[in-house]
Amino acid sequence: MKYAAPRGTKDILPDDSPLWQFIEGACRETFELFNYREIRTPIFEATDVFTRSIGDSTDIVKKEMYTFPDRKGRSLTLRPEATASVVRAGLENNLISPDNLLKVYYLGPMFRYERPQAGRQRQFHQAGVEAFGSNDPLLDAEVIQMAVNLFQALGLKELEVDINSVGCKKCRPAYLEALKKYFQENVKHMCKDCLARFEINPLRILDCKEEPCQKYIAKAPAMVDHLDAECKEHFKRMVGWLDGLEIKYKINDRLVRGLDYYTRTAFEVVSKQLGAQNAVCGGGRYDDLVEEMGGKSVPAIGFAIGLERIMEILRKLNVESRASNVGLYIATIGDEARKVGFDLLSKARDAGISADFDYQGRSLKAQMKAADRLKAEYVYIIGEEELKKRSAILKNMETADQHEIAFDELIDNFSGECGCGCEH
Ligand code: ATP
Ligand code: MG
Repeated sequence: MKYAAPRGTKDILPDDSPLWQFIEGACRETFELFNYREIRTPIFEATDVFTRSIGDSTDIVKKEMYTFPDRKGRSLTLRPEATASVVRAGLENNLISPDNLLKVYYLGPMFRYERPQAGRQRQFHQAGVEAFGSNDPLLDAEVIQMAVNLFQALGLKELEVDINSVGCKKCRPAYLEALKKYFQENVKHMCKDCLARFEINPLRILDCKEEPCQKYIAKAPAMVDHLDAECKEHFKRMVGWLDGLEIKYKINDRLVRGLDYYTRTAFEVVSKQLGAQNAVCGGGRYDDLVEEMGGKSVPAIGFAIGLERIMEILRKLNVESRASNVGLYIATIGDEARKVGFDLLSKARDAGISADFDYQGRSLKAQMKAADRLKAEYVYIIGEEELKKRSAILKNMETADQHEIAFDELIDNFSGECGCGCEH
């Protein structure tokens, strides 16, 4: 083989598409139930859009971005996530303002230069939502509820919702001091990355996944104990709403998100059915980002779901893709039958019936095999005799039931639940 897909990327092949479409369909349906509307932004942005928002000290900006100069020397970056792009687009198009509530969702590929492994690719897909214009904790709870509803619609169980508050720019500095004081002693026993995080942003040490660091992280001071009165109240009220909605959650005071722009509510949905990379959804509030990106002060909250990881769970659960698209396969013998068959094929498609045909002049036996391989629901078989009668056998490929239907009646009768033309 001459070419291979770039490292860390995967083709989504026709056999996989039905399951992808099922996932994407469930996302759209759930988001739209909550009145979120789709937004599509470019796959690449000016590099600043991401460096300014995501933060220089994050793994994404430090080592994961696909950044390149275009032919005029402008620095562009393939989007590693969509929130920054959505804020950029919202501001540029005047959709984000303090007195407008904007609820949008997106679906699409993201790009991060990471070491490919189970649950980690360089091009992967996310579905996510962003809501701008309210700091009401009810919205935080509703956004979490929406994620939970979506996972239910997808048939996923054994999920855990972890929540935390990471405070705001008023109360976080004192917490960072407390963390610095605590890690001062311990960081020399911790990994190289933690050492660097200690200097730049000690909060991110809590996100370290290295085993030897865990025992130090476990005893670190918790943000929830350092929240100011307003952040504390916000968290309490959000939790109250979650309780009211009977959503099960775990308060995980070690939970911080990978990006710098989060404030107050942070949450993650983790699956017990995945290995090390077990987060399927990450989200939270980012009340300062819009202002940081040049807008007025507009609070916001959102989440992103990793679709490959959802796909992996569904595969483990043996969720079958819808087996077939093909409702009707028309098999023919001889040139004249082929003409008539092709005419019926076109009529079937005009009537909204997914239909297929032989394009290689194969024998009837080979055509029946092909229909079988396509998992066609019905086959209509036209030979010389049938041409004379202007009627032919329609065979249900699953039950092997068959009966005769006139050419003229095939399409009209081919409707209803079973498609066989009977009187249902
Ligand atoms: P992780 O700790 O797993 O790297 P993250 O904090 O980098 O997650 P987010 O930026 O919050 O991830 O992205 C939201 C979701 O997107 C994650 O929960 C995960 O399901 C998915 N995701 C992130 N990076 C990748 C990747 N490289 N390949 C596949 N899915 C990914
Ligand atoms: Mg990551």
